[in-house]
Amino acid sequence: MIRVSNLKKKYDAVEALKGISFSIAEGEFYGLLGPNGAGKSTTISILSTILEPTEGEVSIAGYDLKQNPVECKKTIGVVPQEIALYNEMSAYDNLLFWGSLYGVGKAELQKRIDEILPMFGLYDRRNDKVKTYSGGMKRRINIASALLHQPRVLFMDEPTVGIDPQSRNLIFEVVEKLHRNGMTIVYTTHYMEEAERFCDRIGIIDNGQIIAQGTLDELRKSSMIKETIVIGFTNLTDELFEKIKTAWHDVKRMDQVVHFFSPNSKNDLSKIILNCNEAGLDVAHIEIQKINLETIFLNLTGKQLRD
Ligand code: ADP
Ligand code: MG
Repeated sequence: MIRVSNLKKKYDAVEALKGISFSIAEGEFYGLLGPNGAGKSTTISILSTILEPTEGEVSIAGYDLKQNPVECKKTIGVVPQEIALYNEMSAYDNLLFWGSLYGVGKAELQKRIDEILPMFGLYDRRNDKVKTYSGGMKRRINIASALLHQPRVLFMDEPTVGIDPQSRNLIFEVVEKLHRNGMTIVYTTHYMEEAERFCDRIGIIDNGQIIAQGTLDELRKSSMIKETIVIGFTNLTDELFEKIKTAWHDVKRMDQVVHFFSPNSKNDLSKIILNCNEAGLDVAHIEIQKINLETIFLNLTGKQLRD
């Protein structure tokens, strides 16, 4: 359904995308997981024809994005990271406006709006001006407006950032329903819980590159680590960290906390503690974490997904 090959984007000096490639099958839910600045929005903007790539090929539903942007646009619905709505207009009028941009006839459009507003829990508020809406409500209208032309593919760029839990849950329900009904979805996020919950396949993106890709199971299996032993200290210094670093090849430090990546935590735990004691380290807390997307990301990059 979607094929992206060797996509590059330069903003003057900044190389935002350094040649990313992925393919998405029809009906698949693909997650692009990465921290702020990774290149998620740049990718979505290029795929939705808002931004031109510096290099690379994109095809959507068999149409080449460069040669056939109009056909591509008809196929896709876009929920951009920045909410685009007219604050002085009601939700209903906003939907009328956005729907008409896609050339949906008025009678058909009104029918679709009447169906879609209850789905997003906003039927009763449909005639209120958008400026009276909460962030979560605006986000819901933003998603609704991307669906009015009944696209086969939906791009969503961090749709749950900064909104209330109720709106978030409603969005989750809608997204899951759309997926069940066969829509192809590309969903960007920096929340690993969201990627783990929805996505058939996940591309982990950092610094303009896809550094790992696969189903959640594949990503877990391809990683050498099984668990992470997380130890917090009270007296960790650069010098002491150097000592334990040489004894344990796969470690990452975050201030006073050290992550020891381990293929077998049962074996390693006592050795690590002994090692830390010998180095003169004072342990404040210990936790064993099962492998998840956050630890995979940390292991690959040495950084955390959230700042
Ligand atoms: P994400 O959506 O994953 O947070 P973005 O795609 O927005 O990442 O940004 C990727 C990189 O490109 C970042 O380093 C960002 O600062 C840079 N960038 C994004 N938009 C612009 C722009 N219009 N001009 C210059 N640099 C940009
Ligand atoms: Mg972004």
